[in-house]
Amino acid sequence: MGIPLNINTLWTRLTIATLLPVALVSMTLYPIFASHLEERIDSSRQAAEAFLDSEYEMLLRSMNESFNQVLATSELPLLRHFLVRRTTPRAPEWSPAAERDWHQMEALFETLMTHYGRYTRLAVVDTRGFEWVATTALPTLPRPPVVAHGATTTYQEAMRLKSRDLYVSPPRLGASGDSDAPVTTVIDIATPIFDDRGQRLGVLLFTLDWSQITANLPHAREAGRGEVLLVDAQGRWLLPGEEGREDQFGDSIGNRRPGIWAAMSARNQGMVMLNDHLLGFRSHDIRTQHYRSQAGMIVSQPESQPWRLGILIPKPSLVGLLKQNPIQQLAIALVYLLSVAFGVFWVLSNHRLRGLRQRALQFSREARQYAGEVQDLYEHAPCGYHSLDGDGRVVKINRTELDWLGYRADEVIDKLHYRDFVTPETRAAFDAAFHQVLGEGQEGSAECELLCRDGSRLPVAIQATAQVTEDGFQYSRATVFDLSERKALEARLEKQALTDPLTGLGNRRYLENQAAMEIARAERSATPLTLIAIDLDHFKRINDTYGHDVGDLVLQAFADLARRVLRDGDVLCRMGGEEFAVLLPDTNREQALQIAERLRKTVTTTPARVGLDSTADGTLSYSASLGVSLVKAGEASLKPAVKRADQGLYAAKQAGRNRVHWEEA
Ligand code: GH3
Ligand code: MG
Ligand code: MG
Repeated sequence: MGIPLNINTLWTRLTIATLLPVALVSMTLYPIFASHLEERIDSSRQAAEAFLDSEYEMLLRSMNESFNQVLATSELPLLRHFLVRRTTPRAPEWSPAAERDWHQMEALFETLMTHYGRYTRLAVVDTRGFEWVATTALPTLPRPPVVAHGATTTYQEAMRLKSRDLYVSPPRLGASGDSDAPVTTVIDIATPIFDDRGQRLGVLLFTLDWSQITANLPHAREAGRGEVLLVDAQGRWLLPGEEGREDQFGDSIGNRRPGIWAAMSARNQGMVMLNDHLLGFRSHDIRTQHYRSQAGMIVSQPESQPWRLGILIPKPSLVGLLKQNPIQQLAIALVYLLSVAFGVFWVLSNHRLRGLRQRALQFSREARQYAGEVQDLYEHAPCGYHSLDGDGRVVKINRTELDWLGYRADEVIDKLHYRDFVTPETRAAFDAAFHQVLGEGQEGSAECELLCRDGSRLPVAIQATAQVTEDGFQYSRATVFDLSERKALEARLEKQALTDPLTGLGNRRYLENQAAMEIARAERSATPLTLIAIDLDHFKRINDTYGHDVGDLVLQAFADLARRVLRDGDVLCRMGGEEFAVLLPDTNREQALQIAERLRKTVTTTPARVGLDSTADGTLSYSASLGVSLVKAGEASLKPAVKRADQGLYAAKQAGRNRVHWEEA
């Protein structure tokens, strides 16, 4: 079961953002460096070839020089002359002439030795194998015949050669010029010496300091160009041992470096790519070199030839290429760094953006929800809301107000002026308030009445504020409060204030209010207005006898009775206690007296119902006295008329009660 890859985690994305740029940069850079490397390898190969060629050429030339030096020396007449004298039996061995030859030869060899500078030993050997003249870098060797050469390979080989032929020995360890450090690598070069008649006189033997030759080769002069390999046909190391080198003279390269040996021994020449090196090599058989020298034939040990010369140079690698150029390394590191930094930055900023987006989403969800709630509040608020443009046209209105008005939104918005909903009676107030909103004040309020679709009127209070921006007035926004309840309450309170709670009749204030209207109307219409003041007789006695509650019932009974007797337009009210008053519009003195009389009579004949608990038959008879007066023209208030009626009443009481009296004053 694999672990599910969640690429949403920040860490995973960061990892990808690091690896991807690295991969991309690598993919871009690799071909460039690969071709660069290819070029390098190519040029290295060419350099190796050139180096190998020059190495080969130098070796060839050095060897040829030596060959020619040997050959040239062997032709010297003095040498022949000396050997002839040595080999002539007649000549005394150590005659003064021989002594002279000896010294001349010695001087010559001394000169050659110094002149050529590359030999450790020059020697002349006669046909018997005795060495006669020998000059060596080694100072003291026994006087001749010092060395018997008869058994040496070099001598034997050389003795078999024809004139101008050479024998070249394989390099071997031999004496150097220094007795303390005598071991070096040397090569013997030998050639036969003949007299004029072709008689073999002996052998000239030059021992070449091989290490000096190799020290002059390019690889030794220009260190660091590569490693030079020189082995014989058996793979034995031919270069002199050097300090710190693994390969020592005579070591088998086949054992130590089998890969190189396998490549070098497989072909005569070539260029192969080893693991981390380029190997250029070619064979060098000194036996075939005679055509470049003056030698007739060159003989050597067959198992040692040909030599194999190789150049080993490090193969250019990407790492090596980079190491060569620290600026390039720095630039590449910078490119990687920048690309990774870019990737990481991208992921991080994306991450932040994603977070912001989610939060923004959350905010907008909340905002939408909030806006919905606000919209709902707006639409269904307990008050009306509307907005009007500068002309007073409705641009926005909430459902509450639409419901009050009985219209749909599409019938109103952008179609109707709000002013049209206001009743003509209250339109002036609305206009004034709207004018204020449009003007400096930018706020206005008015109490108006709205005309609803069903014809009803709705009292409202409107409070409006202008919405003003830099561009000036935008619209006015108004809150509309339904005043109908308040108005009803006010009316109720007003009515309560003017009503007597016990009898439901108007009270003294009510009478005064009505009187003002009736006086004005009577004056307008020039009709008489009369007033009756009523006081129940001996009421105290009723209370005292039957209780206050029965008194109340009597008061209520009188009120009901008086309502029935009087006309609709007559204003009946309770002035207080058991005192009542009636204002009779359009009623003259006689008519008023008749009405008063009728009322008095009816009271007398209509006992009040007070309940069986109070009286035997549940009724109680009572009576009232009445005073009647006229409201005279020019009287602004009812007061004088009331006074006169009271006086009439008083007179009626005085006269014995239960009667009507007109009081003229
Ligand atoms: P008179 O014939 O001279 O008018 O005698 P009266 O007893 O009617 O006159 P008075 O003014 O002395 O007494 C009036 C009484 O009416 C006194 C008072 O207790 C009573 N009264 C006043 N208001 C009420 C009321 O609301 N209910 C009851 N039950 N009695 C009231
Ligand atoms: Mg009274
Ligand atoms: Mg009374």
